[in-house]
Amino acid sequence: MSEKYVDIYKKLDMDIEKHSELMSALFQLFSDVFLTQKNRPENIKYFDWLMSEIHGKRIEELMEFKDKNKPLVGTFCIFIPEEIVVASGGACYGLCGGAQFSIPDAERDLPRNICPLIKSAYGFKVQRTCPYTQISNFIYGETTCEAKKKTWEILNDLHPTHVMHIPHMKGKREKDLWREEIYEFKNHIEEIVGKELTFEELKKGVEIINKKREALQRLDYLRSTKPDIVPISGLDSLLVTQISFYDDPERFSDKVFELCDELEERIDKGISVCESDTPRIMVIGTPMAPPNWKLHQVVETTGGIVINEEACIGHRYFKDNIDLDGVESVEDIIERMLERYMKIDCACFTPNDERIDKIIKMYREKKADGIIYYTLSFCHTYNVESKKVIDRLKEEKIPVLKIESDYSAEDVGQIKTRVEAFLESIRFKKSFKAKR
Ligand code: SF4
Ligand code: SF4
Repeated sequence: MSEKYVDIYKKLDMDIEKHSELMSALFQLFSDVFLTQKNRPENIKYFDWLMSEIHGKRIEELMEFKDKNKPLVGTFCIFIPEEIVVASGGACYGLCGGAQFSIPDAERDLPRNICPLIKSAYGFKVQRTCPYTQISNFIYGETTCEAKKKTWEILNDLHPTHVMHIPHMKGKREKDLWREEIYEFKNHIEEIVGKELTFEELKKGVEIINKKREALQRLDYLRSTKPDIVPISGLDSLLVTQISFYDDPERFSDKVFELCDELEERIDKGISVCESDTPRIMVIGTPMAPPNWKLHQVVETTGGIVINEEACIGHRYFKDNIDLDGVESVEDIIERMLERYMKIDCACFTPNDERIDKIIKMYREKKADGIIYYTLSFCHTYNVESKKVIDRLKEEKIPVLKIESDYSAEDVGQIKTRVEAFLESIRFKKSFKAKR
């Protein structure tokens, strides 16, 4: 694949040799983790293909946007109003921040003891191995945590970085601030396209992204609706959600709907990827940027099944749509956008009790058997918040295990042992309940 796209990589000033090293490691990992699974739905093939072309066909498509002067924006956070980028005819995508590969290069500039997501992402820019970063007009940064906001200052010296100030509370003052930030972001996009966005364009942008979220909501529902039939693995569902941050949103939605039709058929026919008594695990916490597949792989090769992710690559991203009912002006749309984005329950907010209530509600609705609280090392927001969340879960008698990890393979054995013990205790409780 690399060979075919070398001209593009040259135009993007990439380090071609290092990039091929990255891609061969990535494809090997992908094939070991995903292609070895059994009984996958047929329609997952599209997502496998997209992953195989993640630095190929998709980049070729984005080059066409670039040639037409349409904005290309890379991001690490779901606070980006991607509807505005899509409304302008541009593309918005998540940047990789889930690989160990780029971390040693990042650690030359950044401290070792900040979260791997930031180091990984920053390292890709230093290495010039990520075509999404190289092609973007600007990288979107936000002020959700200390490490990120200081990194943007350094990153801006290497690549234009637009920082949005995300408030840490949800009162009127903070909403006013965030409204201003949305308008400023819109102005930036309008400067690139050289015109103001119309009401119709903005509405279209919202409709496209609403549809993408609806597709993901349907997948989320189908994978966990039946207590005894799970028609798709947690790994494959995670893959689809990760790809939602890269693919063309309209094509992606259609492909997810096709996959969901197949999952409905599988449910009707009783086709499940696991035994009916397999422990059903909810994973909650920090986002899992590709290729961070470690925890899901451990759970699913240890006898459990992941039935959803309360994370930004997961439920937090697609749970709310922008309500377009009765909107008549650009200002109305921005107001609705503000309402929607203010519902994000990232741990950067204080207080953040709505997140805990949501987790408990989801646990009950999805008939889960246990929760794994996953946090990246040195992610202070999610790490500190875990105390309140875990205390409440214990009060509710919900089995919970906390896993803190980075992207290296060093702790896989230790995580496996802890997950095995956790699943065993769940199995024991389940069989005890069944006998009573
Ligand atoms: S966890 Fe918070 S900071 Fe991180 S992507 Fe989600 S919303 Fe953004
Ligand atoms: S995972 Fe935590 S520390 Fe890392 S960027 Fe996100 S909020 Fe910041």
